[in-house]
Amino acid sequence: MASLAARPAPAPDGTAAVTTGLLTARTADAYQELLGQVTRDVAERLRTVRAPSVGPDRRRLEQLVTDVDLDGPGVGDAAALTEADALYAGNAVWFHHPSYLAHLNCPVVLPAVAAEAMLAAINTSVDTYDQSLVATLMEQRLVRWTAGRIGFEAGDGVFTSGGTQSNLQALYLARARAERETGEARALLVPCLRVLTTQAAHFSVSRSATLLGLRGDAVLTVPADDEGRMDVAALHEALDALGAAGERAMAIVATAGTTDRGTIDPLPAIADAARAHGTWLHVDAAYGGGLLLSRTRRHLLDGIERADSVTVDYHKTCFQPVSSSALVVRESADLAATTHHADYLNPAAEAASEDAEPNQVDKSLQTTRRFDALKLWTTLRSLGPDAIGDMVDAVCDLAVEVRDLLEDDPDLHVLGSTDLSTVIFRFCPAHLDEARADELQPLIRRILFHSGRAMVARTTIDGTPWLKLTLLNPETTLLDVAAVLDLVRATGRGLLAGTRLAATEATR
Ligand SMILES: *Cc1c(COP(=O)(O)O)cnc(C)c1O
Repeated sequence: MASLAARPAPAPDGTAAVTTGLLTARTADAYQELLGQVTRDVAERLRTVRAPSVGPDRRRLEQLVTDVDLDGPGVGDAAALTEADALYAGNAVWFHHPSYLAHLNCPVVLPAVAAEAMLAAINTSVDTYDQSLVATLMEQRLVRWTAGRIGFEAGDGVFTSGGTQSNLQALYLARARAERETGEARALLVPCLRVLTTQAAHFSVSRSATLLGLRGDAVLTVPADDEGRMDVAALHEALDALGAAGERAMAIVATAGTTDRGTIDPLPAIADAARAHGTWLHVDAAYGGGLLLSRTRRHLLDGIERADSVTVDYHKTCFQPVSSSALVVRESADLAATTHHADYLNPAAEAASEDAEPNQVDKSLQTTRRFDALKLWTTLRSLGPDAIGDMVDAVCDLAVEVRDLLEDDPDLHVLGSTDLSTVIFRFCPAHLDEARADELQPLIRRILFHSGRAMVARTTIDGTPWLKLTLLNPETTLLDVAAVLDLVRATGRGLLAGTRLAATEATR
């Protein structure tokens, strides 16, 4: 009673006694006003952005961030958001700009961005049905829709924060299956477990193995062909050798679209090997998942329907704002290994009842979880799946065109081919010493990055440094890319001009 009495009484007009910044009935008008301001500011940025970034100096950014007084009196909503517009939006990297060609970041579709505002305001958590109601049903429908696209007849799964988390959960389920099948205690079994994948697999695979307590050398690298696709004969040999050594293949991880080269492992032959050895097959389609919607390239994923689990990142090739990913499994029963019953959330007694409420927390490594599914939902309803698939096709087509362009380029060497939308190349004019070329690639990337005018990525393949374009913007044209390639060339030439080597070249 004492604490109740100590509270200030509500004002006579019924408004709250304590001034808060909460989104409630009282602030509904202010909410509309504030979002109007934010969308006007962002729209103006979109209209006026001239480069992927303004190329701000990092020391200056550090200063700007430090200078904000987080302990001072509040400045009010409008001023705080205006300040954020200047600090954040004014210094951001813009993925929709046609000269942004670096990482696996996609431009985002309008219905998803609008849905993001809706789900943020309502703040649903899709862990239990009693917190989410229809949102859980919508997420489940989208998971089943994705499973259907994969070709799982009775698949199930859950939305996750990204491919990293999806891969972790896939391997967690694979470890659980190994425990079930052998009946061995985890302490005895885990040291014998191995994961087979290629050098090109995403690093989250080996990190997941570590998190799951597997041996430091548990991830075996299966040799790959020249373009990074798993060598299936070598996979069979590795599986046979494991059996002979008394070890157990916990999972084979095939990649459907490697992060660097966008190549897809030979899924049908890998599925044969997995079946022959009774091994869990996980297909990491974080990047290639968008092909599920393609009208011309879906066949590249043939065999994916024979996987036990699949990672799909909608925030890479379905043009969704981060986060939006899913782990999908072929047998819904496999997800049971994730289930934990908490009396306050999803009690076991209720779960056992015939008409149990659907609680997605039973299938997730997260508890409180965003309703990210709403974004994909509105995207599909607005555009339809074919339009998304066509956008994926457009970036894959562009990669082919860029590659053709580079084939004839005297200064830029292109590496191999892709199944998706990356282009790996390096600035290497005739007569340039390879060692010098190795030095130049990261320098070129860095100079472009600091200028803000164009952004390309870099990577190292078999010890050789390369530059990389990740094409994920279906509105980017061959001309746009050619302009960035010209910048790469000019930057490389500029660097060479500063060396004696360039002088020798010039006198040739
Ligand atoms: C990007 C990527 C991941 C990681 O996904 P996040 O969403 O960044 O966590 C995993 N696997 C592959 C093949 C990827 O390209």
